[in-house]
Amino acid sequence: MNTRGILVPVVAPTGSGKDTLITYAKSLYPEIVLSISCTTRAPREGEVDGVDYYFLTREAFEARIAEGGLLEWAEYGGNYYGTPKAEIEQALSEGKLIMGDIEVQGVRLISELLPKEEFSTIYIDAGSWEVLSARALSRAPMSEQELLKRKSRYEDEASYKAEATYVVHNPDGHLEVAKEEMKQVVEELLARIAR
Ligand code: 5GP
Repeated sequence: MNTRGILVPVVAPTGSGKDTLITYAKSLYPEIVLSISCTTRAPREGEVDGVDYYFLTREAFEARIAEGGLLEWAEYGGNYYGTPKAEIEQALSEGKLIMGDIEVQGVRLISELLPKEEFSTIYIDAGSWEVLSARALSRAPMSEQELLKRKSRYEDEASYKAEATYVVHNPDGHLEVAKEEMKQVVEELLARIAR
């Protein structure tokens, strides 16, 4: 048998529980490979180079682009983000299920590059902009400018819902619903590889 793997970017607006659900999927099925992206943004507290991201300088990132080392890359919030090509190719050739946290421009680029059988997407639907922004504002104050920037990003990511292979619902206060839906999607994807 020579089954190739599947790359599954998870798309969601900020505050939708994307990281939690990816971590949950990995905890259920440790054989899932988490794609580690390159970025030029500074590490946040607790983030580890080579685990959360490969943290690169702008020069090093631009060199990776020039040598064709990235499957896709995008500029987001003033920083570069990109998916290392060799690691994805390796995992696909080993028949792995690879999950990645990739924003929507990058996901659309990858969808043009990979064969249909090797690419699927999950959109996390945690509700409308009104719901998500109200929740964010109840946690921390935000300037009008920051709110507008977030709204525009919300609309970019939410526009992917209609294109996604799977939609996982994460209704406010009911993470158990999202976990169950995520589990079912991952099981379907793993079954596709095993077939
Ligand atoms: P953060 O800086 O909060 O970790 O991520 C910011 C945004 O970059 C998120 O929307 C995340 O999905 C996106 N991102 C992370 N890695 C990649 C990548 O490899 N390629 C692209 N295009 N976006 C990424």
